Amino acid sequence: MRRWNGWGDVNTVYPLPDSAIEYLAQTIGVGSKISDAQLEEIQAQLPASRLSPMPLINQEAIERVFHARGQSLPDWVAMRSGKINAFPDGVAYPNDEADIRKLLAFASKNEILVIPYGGGTSVVGHINPLPSVAPTLTIDLSRLNRLLDLDETSRLATFEAGVNGPRLEAQLAEHGYTLGHFPQSFELSTLGGWIAARSSGQQSYYYGRIEDLFAGGHIETPCGALDLPALPASAAGPDLRQAILGSEGRLGILTQATVRIQPRPPMEAFYGVFFHDWEAGVEAMRRIAQERTPISMARLSNAQETETTLALSGKEALVQWANRGLRLVGYDAKRCLLIFGVTGTPAACAHARRQTLQIAHAQGGLFTGQVIGKIWRKSRFLTPYLRNTLWELGYAVDTLETALPWSNILLAAEEIQAALKKALNSFNERCLVMAHLSHIYSDGASIYVTFIFRRSEDPEETLERWKMMKSAASQAIIQHRGTISHQHGVGVDHAAYLEAEKSALGIALIRQMAHTVDPKGILNPGKLFS
Ligand SMILES: Cc1cc2nc3c(=O)[nH]c(=O)nc-3n(C[C@H](O)[C@H](O)[C@H](O)COP(=O)(O)OP(=O)(O)OC[C@H]3O[C@@H](n4cnc5c(N)ncnc54)[C@H](O)[C@@H]3O)c2cc1C
Repeated sequence: MRRWNGWGDVNTVYPLPDSAIEYLAQTIGVGSKISDAQLEEIQAQLPASRLSPMPLINQEAIERVFHARGQSLPDWVAMRSGKINAFPDGVAYPNDEADIRKLLAFASKNEILVIPYGGGTSVVGHINPLPSVAPTLTIDLSRLNRLLDLDETSRLATFEAGVNGPRLEAQLAEHGYTLGHFPQSFELSTLGGWIAARSSGQQSYYYGRIEDLFAGGHIETPCGALDLPALPASAAGPDLRQAILGSEGRLGILTQATVRIQPRPPMEAFYGVFFHDWEAGVEAMRRIAQERTPISMARLSNAQETETTLALSGKEALVQWANRGLRLVGYDAKRCLLIFGVTGTPAACAHARRQTLQIAHAQGGLFTGQVIGKIWRKSRFLTPYLRNTLWELGYAVDTLETALPWSNILLAAEEIQAALKKALNSFNERCLVMAHLSHIYSDGASIYVTFIFRRSEDPEETLERWKMMKSAASQAIIQHRGTISHQHGVGVDHAAYLEAEKSALGIALIRQMAHTVDPKGILNPGKLFS
């Protein structure tokens, strides 16, 4: 069963050893255990639904609470404190496109706001109902989860868009294929959500980002249906698939998507390399990308993330042994860990590994074999569970990300992290800030920053700390002309920064597209643009 106020399945836990708790206490202070609001309390405070009865819509309190918030830090504060300012008035689970058409017609006629809901894993407020005069209906697409068509000759698979990661991969695996899209939220996020929020998987370097994988689809809107044929390429005007990618529920409900698939790879392996410092590691990453090294993933942690990852790994004996050994061979406090993966035939994997290690050695890299890579592989979808553990110990965790040209990576990464620390200092608190590069391109990379800080007894104060940090980091991103999001999307939290990237005219164009398919403005208002 899924947690209603945290990440993932209630039966999965990520315990931390005492040494890790001690590490956090020393780095940012002792966390205090703060009790959470109970589900029953929240259900009791729920305002009455403003929807008139409709057979497809469920108005039960439990459904409305479960769909009230996603996974952003403000969402966590709201769910854990019970201070939730808006709930959907009802939740529908359509079984097919006909149900979706009925729901959209009902919503349009009665001026009901509609939130398309995939896995609810948004970290920027995409699926939150906002306080409004009009009632809000959340359309949960989880029953639309079937493989509809498999064209093995063209390597195209058509799915219903509510299918989640594990179910999508299991259906493809039965036929020997994979999509290869593995965001860290894989366990719960859905194909429709990946497309609507322009997601990027951990192995996108090899399989492609979702925009490379999305070949076509079917969208239901209040003004009718839009079919996007799956074509390998087209010069027939602007590509409407690009408009649906990142549309965040504002251009309609994606009911089906055709995606480009590949045969399951015969081999996959992940390796670890240590660099003396961040600069050497970044240079290696740039060369890996620009020399088109055929690896499947690469993640370079900065010194703070390397240290914290080892400290929180729970593998005390192994970490102590590794630390001693690394110091002996001259990889000291500034050392940075690169984990890279290879995927394909044994010959292709050997070639990719050789080429990567040549580049790494030229930058002073120390190859450590598969041990660290195996640990990463085992915990790649488990790490989000650490958020539950840390929260319960009194710490809040959030992440933010951008993408920039290589020429600006080092300075931007430093200043984004400095902005976070400075913002929290004004509360007389310390922040553990760390970064990695995990998506690389020939012209640049994404910078992914994680920050951990102590929660206050007062949820408003915790939120205030987060707002100051998020705003400072977002300003730093904009100043460096980075994108406000490489993979999480815009939602509510990034909407104010979108114009810096798209321009006022660009936003007007997007708004006009939305107006064409949704003249009453009922589709996910307040997200992406106001
Ligand atoms: C722990 C954690 C790790 C994460 N890791 C990654 C990562 O590695 N890479 C990454 O890219 N993201 C990551 N994310 C962010 C999130 O998982 C992605 O944004 C994902 O694409 C959201 O998918 P979802 O199905 O949960 O969509 P939701 O959160 O339900 O919705 C997101 C947006 O898409 C719209 N939408 C959903 N389905 C449809 C549909 N069928 N038609 C129209 N609109 C729709 C919604 O209205 C909303 O605006 C992570 C999030 C968490 C909490």
